[in-house]
Amino acid sequence: MPTPESAKMHEVTGELREAVFEYARTRLSYAPPPLDSPKPLEVLNELAGQTITEKGLGGSAALELFGEVLAPSTISTDHPGYLSFIPSAPTEASKLFDLIVSASAIYGGSWMEGAGAVFAENQVIEWLVRETGLPTGAGGVFVQGGTIGNLSALVAARFAAEKRLGHKPERWAFICSSEAHSSLKTAARVMDVDIIAARADEDGQLGGPAVDSALAAAGDREVFAIVATGGTTNFGIVDSIDEIASVAKSHNIWLHVDGAYGLAAILAPSTRKLFSGLENADSFIVDPHKWLFAPFDACALVYRNPELAREAHTQHGEYLDTLTESGEWNPSDYAINLTRRPRGLPLWFSLATHGVAAYRAAVETNCQLARDAAELIRKRADLELVREPMLSVVVFKKHGWNQSDYDAWSDKLLADQIAFVVPSSHRGEPNLRFAIVNPTTTIETIAEILDRIEKD
Ligand SMILES: *Cc1c(COP(=O)(O)O)cnc(C)c1O
Repeated sequence: MPTPESAKMHEVTGELREAVFEYARTRLSYAPPPLDSPKPLEVLNELAGQTITEKGLGGSAALELFGEVLAPSTISTDHPGYLSFIPSAPTEASKLFDLIVSASAIYGGSWMEGAGAVFAENQVIEWLVRETGLPTGAGGVFVQGGTIGNLSALVAARFAAEKRLGHKPERWAFICSSEAHSSLKTAARVMDVDIIAARADEDGQLGGPAVDSALAAAGDREVFAIVATGGTTNFGIVDSIDEIASVAKSHNIWLHVDGAYGLAAILAPSTRKLFSGLENADSFIVDPHKWLFAPFDACALVYRNPELAREAHTQHGEYLDTLTESGEWNPSDYAINLTRRPRGLPLWFSLATHGVAAYRAAVETNCQLARDAAELIRKRADLELVREPMLSVVVFKKHGWNQSDYDAWSDKLLADQIAFVVPSSHRGEPNLRFAIVNPTTTIETIAEILDRIEKD
């Protein structure tokens, strides 16, 4: 039987297939990859032109365009000098396996369709449960990112509170730190609930008494969750989870720990103790795409009592009943999502390949490098640490510099393809910030960057 015309696009030539594999092979072999930099829209319009046409460009032209125009216009987040925001440093094993996930067309939403993949993802979740000290039976799902993870956890928390109360109160609220991540404001907006901000102390850490005060300020509002941050994004400060957990427990309120960036530090011997109290969480998140060396995009969302989350999140529909009534573990039922890529698999493969000890060592290396970087900064009279690093974020300023000095320095650093370090700010004052999550970043990289901050 000849292939119908309409199915022809499901095939490519052997040549194109090899070219794509070759591209991937080359990109994976770079050590380091090119840093590259963004280009303005007009320039990309000029260079790339209209790429979507009735007849198609053909695979080799499209691949060439990607390799020569589009890819160099994107920053490599896995470059050792990428220290802005939160970088990403996927292991080679995890990147390779991501190719397999794409090639395999696995539906990761249900056990019926994705049992083997869901089994492997769940072993990773169970490992996180053991590391964090939550009880057996805790479970969850890999969602797109921390923003969806936080929102899904809070929706489950509110559901649980409503179930306990037996009615809807006038107004819901949750408590989080004044230094909590912006995604919590997004969650509050989406859920139409209030945030009661609890004041972090001078060092940016939230403790029990501040949460008590926030509770006292709740008035008529029903507080359905308290959020502790396990590693603030700006500074890597871990809240006093132990104290916050006691307050949550004494008021019978859901404790959620936002560990999108920092929770990976439970693996490092030197930082593990900072997370004491985490075992009392009702839910937590951690992003493997941030500091568990997995590719974009993956956030592990874990519940102490997954059954409550399932009740809160399961979508019902005639075409879905056969799945939802099966009694099997369907990842889609535990978050705001239905169709899902089994995005936990690249992490699973890398963990299965290298073992947990390699992960402990890698996270510890990053924390040690942050301490070493802080030491270098302390030794320089023209620089000042804004806060002592707790995990792997180092924030400092240069005496006498204003915003435009920082901007110009940062632009030049990228233009020279040395590193990507954008200015940040604290209490209205500009500063520089290193977020270190890449084990190939060395003290030499850091020293070179610091040396480019000219001495007065
Ligand atoms: C990054 C981050 C988030 C948001 O995670 P995304 O994966 O970017 O959506 C939430 N909380 C904290 C503490 C973060 O660092």
